[in-house]
Amino acid sequence: MIQAAISEFGSSLAILTSFQREGVVIVDLVMREQVNSPKIPILTIDTGKLPAATQRMIDAVEQRYGVEVERIRPDESEVAAMVGAHGENLFYDSVPQRMLCCNVRKVRPLARRMATVSAYFAGLRREQGGERLGIEEIDRAGTQVKISPLADWSASDVERYTREHNLPVHDLYSAGYTSIGCNPCTRATIEGEGERAGRWWWENDVDKECGIHFTPDGRAERTVDVLLRDLLTRTATA
Ligand code: SF4
Repeated sequence: MIQAAISEFGSSLAILTSFQREGVVIVDLVMREQVNSPKIPILTIDTGKLPAATQRMIDAVEQRYGVEVERIRPDESEVAAMVGAHGENLFYDSVPQRMLCCNVRKVRPLARRMATVSAYFAGLRREQGGERLGIEEIDRAGTQVKISPLADWSASDVERYTREHNLPVHDLYSAGYTSIGCNPCTRATIEGEGERAGRWWWENDVDKECGIHFTPDGRAERTVDVLLRDLLTRTATA
């Protein structure tokens, strides 16, 4: 699958990773296959809220493969406007505010960078549940083709590959984390919880639904879209 993707997309291909185990496996698999191909960039979103252990993982991967990881960063003026309006820890106040933060720090900067690639590798697995249950190995539905070579892998497949190839491992796994994102929004999980239960742990499943807001003419809008529009209006007129 990786060879086919390299042949089809060449230099317009990227790896997108947050340096969890799956992402490092993808990096390793691609590095083995791309020997005579154009260099495939390794992209990560540096939200400004990453744990120090993720920064150490980036350094470890750079050293091991002799590459420079490209950090995708949010627009500073958007972050400043968001924090000025809603506070540094807005994500704890409501689901729409958490989604606003994810939009400003992750979704928007990623969309800007991804506009320049045709396809990318991601480390998603169906076994992780939730929206990932239905992922395709090669998903051509979006603007960019999303390639998930580990779609069918189990957590123990990933652990075995990691061990057999002596890959660097994120320090937070040994602290009980089973999914790793931004520092303030991730905690360790306990036995019996799903792999991603530690992400936005203060929200319950109902809260995780998008807040809906109705416009004066009766149209439904997600509250996060209203917040984002206000924010962008403010930064445009600043
Ligand atoms: S995970 Fe948390 S800190 Fe990171 S972008 Fe989303 S809300 Fe903001």
